[in-house]
Amino acid sequence: MSRLLTLFALLLVLPAATAAEPPRTAENVLVVTLDGFRWQELFGGADEAFMDSKQGVKDEAGLKKKYLRATAAERREALLPFVWGTVAKNGQVFGNPAKQAAAESTNGLKFSYPGYSELFCGVADPRIDSNAKKDNPNPSVLEHLNGRPGFKDRVEAICTWDVFPSIFRSAKNGLRVQAGWEPIKAGKGEKLTDRERTLNDAMDRLPRYWPDNAYDVLTFGAVKSALERRKPRVLYVALGETDEWGHGRRYDLYLDAAHQADRFLAETWAWMQADPQYKGKTALILTTDHGRGGTRLDWTDHGKKVDGAEFIWVAVMGPDTPALGEREKVRVTQSQVAATVAALIGEDFTTTAPKAAPPLPVFEKK
Ligand SMILES: [Zn+2]
Repeated sequence: MSRLLTLFALLLVLPAATAAEPPRTAENVLVVTLDGFRWQELFGGADEAFMDSKQGVKDEAGLKKKYLRATAAERREALLPFVWGTVAKNGQVFGNPAKQAAAESTNGLKFSYPGYSELFCGVADPRIDSNAKKDNPNPSVLEHLNGRPGFKDRVEAICTWDVFPSIFRSAKNGLRVQAGWEPIKAGKGEKLTDRERTLNDAMDRLPRYWPDNAYDVLTFGAVKSALERRKPRVLYVALGETDEWGHGRRYDLYLDAAHQADRFLAETWAWMQADPQYKGKTALILTTDHGRGGTRLDWTDHGKKVDGAEFIWVAVMGPDTPALGEREKVRVTQSQVAATVAALIGEDFTTTAPKAAPPLPVFEKK
């Protein structure tokens, strides 16, 4: 009898003890994606073979001066000084095939909605097979966190692409998502600042070069407002220009978009480290929804038929993640990001999504 009772007690205790994530120092998490930004440039910097007029480059000499250097280490640091000077030094970067550390999306479709769904829901769902604005049947880690104690209305997404409300099914769950060409709004009883009014006015007057995707600079401005106004504990920033200029075969603007994203990250991180809510208590995770082709012909493209476009990258930094730098001999998948976002702040996504892939191995000492 007593043995039975012990077994019963164990059954009660064990699931909770194994499922719960240990507490973390980080209380906030910033998630940023650069749509369709290739691992090739992340790890190798600008590719000289692509720096010519056939790849849309308007000022070859100027572009080479900005980003071309003798070694891959110098090139990637010139292109992404914050990622390589701060994130990689204090955190971890997954996805370099040369280090036997490929990061792979597993949905097989290699385009945006399936990629973002895999990233945020932790599973590759074959029902998601287009970029149509249809509500995701799966809960995202943002929806999960928004329902957790201490996080209600402290989770939000600011996105250049207007499909994100469907990816996060925000009409159903009330998650705060600002997407596409949607102006900054003040809260109830609040007024827009001069800076916000100027940004909204610019959005109204700028050419809408992509009807479904706003310029990253407008998103940068909206993120500043979100941080100042609401101080979210979980903030997701979706940048889109790397993908758009890639499709447009503008290698110069593709590189510039990545460089500006890096600058935005540096500025946002510096702002956070000067704020008591965020300082020393914030984790950062950077990644992408898909890769692109690897040749001069197909680097502009991605999708089911594009070889290698399944390869992505993920960078993580925070107070609980040892500074292991560029990870070696570890293969990871896109579906591991969702549980990682939760685990970085001591939360467990699998209580909502039992089939979600486990977190990336970012907490272990080498
Ligand atoms: Zn694309």
